[in-house]
Amino acid sequence: MKNKKKHLSDDEIYESALEKLMDENDDVLFTKEEEELFREYYLRSLVKRYPNPQRIGCPDADIVRDIAFRRKVDPATLRKVTSHIWKCAECILDMLGYAEEYKKTRKTRNKKTKRADCNEET
Ligand SMILES: [Zn+2]
Repeated sequence: MKNKKKHLSDDEIYESALEKLMDENDDVLFTKEEEELFREYYLRSLVKRYPNPQRIGCPDADIVRDIAFRRKVDPATLRKVTSHIWKCAECILDMLGYAEEYKKTRKTRNKKTKRADCNEET
């Protein structure tokens, strides 16, 4: 994999993110690498490029949250909402916040399981 670190275009990142969102069998929202990419690339450039302090055309926060939490969202809505999100600084920040929240709930769950497994260490 030679082109692992190449810089993707907005469209490529958007398409790959959308693919992931549409894939119901995929358990994680983004891979670690993609998350880094999103955080670095989007937070730095898109937030500057697509500021939307008045939140014009923003979808319901509940829907953004549902997507981040990988709940069932109607595919047409998903496409509409995500195509907005990638062009809206406020929604990207929301989405990343929710994704972080989602990861934390999962992590807490994992920790509990692990702790039970590691009883001998204590
Ligand atoms: Zn928005």
